Amino acid sequence: MVSSGITGRTRPTKVKKHAAAQKRKRDDVDVEKLEQAVEELDPRNGSYRDFTDLPLSEPTKQGLKSSHFAVMTDIQAKAIPLALKGYDILGAAKTGSGKTLAFIVPVLENLYRLQHVGMDAGLGALIISPTRELAIQIFEVLRQLGKQGHMFAAGLVIGGKSLEAERQALTRMNILVGTPGRILQHLSQTVAFNVDDLKMLVLDEADRILDMGFQRDVDAIIEYLPKERQTLLFSATQSRKLSDLARLSLQDPEYVSVHAEDRTATPKTLQQNYIICPLEEKMDTLWSFIQASKKSKILCFFSSAKIVRFVYESFRHMQPGIPLLHIHGRQKQGARLDTTAKFSAAKYSCLFATDVAARGLDFPAVDFVIQVDCPEDADTYIHRVGRTARYNREGRGVLFLAPSEEEGMLKRLEAKNVPIELINVRQKKRQSIKSQLTHMCFKDPALKYLAQKAFVTYAKSVYLQKDKETFKLKEYDFEGFAASLGLPGTPRIKFLKDDDAKQKKQASREALEVSDTSAEGEGEEDGPAKKKAKTVRTKYDRMFERQNQDVLADHYKKLVKNDLDATDADDQDLNGEAGEDAEDDFLSVKRRIPAEASISDVVPEDTEATTKDQKVVHLQGAKQPLIIDSKRRENLLKSKKKVLKLMDRGKKLVYDDEGNPHEVYELEDEMDFKARGLPGEQRKKFIETAREIVAEADVQDKAAAKAKRKEKTRKRKERERMEAEGVDVEDGGVTLDVNQEDLLANFRADAEASESGEVRGKKWFQEDESDEEDKGKKKRKGKRRAKVEIEEPQTLEDMEALAAGLLG
Ligand code: ADP
Ligand code: MG
Repeated sequence: MVSSGITGRTRPTKVKKHAAAQKRKRDDVDVEKLEQAVEELDPRNGSYRDFTDLPLSEPTKQGLKSSHFAVMTDIQAKAIPLALKGYDILGAAKTGSGKTLAFIVPVLENLYRLQHVGMDAGLGALIISPTRELAIQIFEVLRQLGKQGHMFAAGLVIGGKSLEAERQALTRMNILVGTPGRILQHLSQTVAFNVDDLKMLVLDEADRILDMGFQRDVDAIIEYLPKERQTLLFSATQSRKLSDLARLSLQDPEYVSVHAEDRTATPKTLQQNYIICPLEEKMDTLWSFIQASKKSKILCFFSSAKIVRFVYESFRHMQPGIPLLHIHGRQKQGARLDTTAKFSAAKYSCLFATDVAARGLDFPAVDFVIQVDCPEDADTYIHRVGRTARYNREGRGVLFLAPSEEEGMLKRLEAKNVPIELINVRQKKRQSIKSQLTHMCFKDPALKYLAQKAFVTYAKSVYLQKDKETFKLKEYDFEGFAASLGLPGTPRIKFLKDDDAKQKKQASREALEVSDTSAEGEGEEDGPAKKKAKTVRTKYDRMFERQNQDVLADHYKKLVKNDLDATDADDQDLNGEAGEDAEDDFLSVKRRIPAEASISDVVPEDTEATTKDQKVVHLQGAKQPLIIDSKRRENLLKSKKKVLKLMDRGKKLVYDDEGNPHEVYELEDEMDFKARGLPGEQRKKFIETAREIVAEADVQDKAAAKAKRKEKTRKRKERERMEAEGVDVEDGGVTLDVNQEDLLANFRADAEASESGEVRGKKWFQEDESDEEDKGKKKRKGKRRAKVEIEEPQTLEDMEALAAGLLG
């Protein structure tokens, strides 16, 4: 019966006029009498035991009676009289000791006596809770108590609902229960929401509401509220910081602390134990515990939503034999409500929760509270464990502590008077689920992803803990933990590495002494990460081991996605066994290396920079990647014209009448083609004509080459003759002995030589360049081709000219 959203009046609204008038009259009398009785009340008397001992209105009395509340709890007996008299109260009492009624009764009563009721009265009391679930529970108690005759309009604002719908109802409210964020939202955005006449402000789980997380919201809310008001603060653990009290403008508050002088800070009916459980055994121990307690209601606390999800999802698939539930702040409101309702109603169930469920929630009859992840401080411990052994019922709390957490945490708990005893886990009864988890993670990438996330958030939460005496980052076996979650390797976590920078340096120094082969062998070996931890790991080992990069580097995931997909399937066929999962990531990493190596094949062998300082640029529209190994090549990229040259040539297409592109040859009419004879014959004919053309061209080419050779020989002889005659031709200087004719001829020859050289040079140069662009095989082919063509310039002169052209 969890109600959500705003509800209207707590009584049917159709009251006959006459009846209403009658009631008003009765109320008047009632109110006056009550006022007097409250006036005479001695809050420090201490003799009040039952609710009926107090001057309460008829509707409240009825409400209490219908809920079977007769005898007050300690905190109620002390706080209610004071609150009725209008004092500000700082109430502290153990979990499950009935604090809710300690403020609900005064709220109803004080507003009743003030007749702060009806649409025009505006908001009379504001009750703030740190979580939605708790707000709902408080609202439920209020409703139960108020429905026997009170006329207040009470509402619940917790977010997750339409703001607009809430707005409409909000203006009519007399009592409002809500979470800080949503209340502030309405105060700042809902114009008609009038709080000027607020009489009471209540903070349940006050220490939580006043701490850092809510500070800004709460301060802003206070700004809107009138200073003249009654303020009630309640919590199981309460700080009495003066600054907090000043923030709330409390006036001479009464400290009502019923259990302060108690030997323990937790209920007497609560049995509290802790076990020493290394990180890597947590999953096994928890599973075994649940298996051994199937006929109970268990609440397990974890440090983050991610772990809750992982444990819930994985355990769910292993037939735990007990209904599993989970709750965390990242769920939708509906799911959260559903879960709390289900867990409340369940006889046997196990609920995995974050600290959203740690405070205030009153689940009936919880047998065990298991704190799987160590609480951040003793207060959190107390609140968590307080979900069981409520209102004199019995309950047990079990805290899992890693060996390194024991000393620090026990110190904190001792300081808060928490009696806790060490117990042992029966090793015989402990089942190992590691291989099952590993197998599940292997088969289901989504679960593996969850495990990775869970691991990372866990590590992060430890890293961010304030209490460094309890949470010693370096003492945790994270690798073992990752393996226990079913992960094939330990996800890389930056801060863990940063923290270990020194060690890392040392390790790499040592690694130098380890031979390369051993490092390689280790990289290929695919056992659990734990084994590797014992030997020195090099940078490359770590690189090979990095199997979960997708947790932290999305782009990496994209890079290797296709490879992964392919190898995943293969692996599944080959190794269905536990611990083999690493293979998929490993392979994917391995793949990246040959891909890079193949690039070096592209580079000409005589190029030195095959490994260092070279980049590969994939030009759009070019089949081959471009290797940038020098400044000149890099500059090349800046020129549009040059880049265009590197692109693959487009081909000519012809468009038909319908605008569809076709290859040029395609468009010939089939009939025409056939008319010219059989295809075989046509081909023969074509080859013949082509051969003729080529032969002709060949003759011409040879003649031209011969002429050129002749010319060159002549030129060389000329030069030799001139040298013999002492003419300096090197700088083109002209001496008296040389006639114009010769000179001109000389120049012409030079020009010709350089010209032909240039032309050829260009051609050769291009050949080279395309060579560079080619991949391995092609390059070698190109070389062979180059050799054949080199035969063409037959003389040394040819070569020289060619070289000159190249240089030119
Ligand atoms: P707290 O806020 O101190 O943790 P709650 O107000 O949630 O405790 O109350 C714990 C349980 O005790 C609730 O289930 C509530 O119904 C019950 N309870 C509270 N006061 C009384 C009372 N006077 N008589 C009987 N049961 C009570
Ligand atoms: Mg409470």
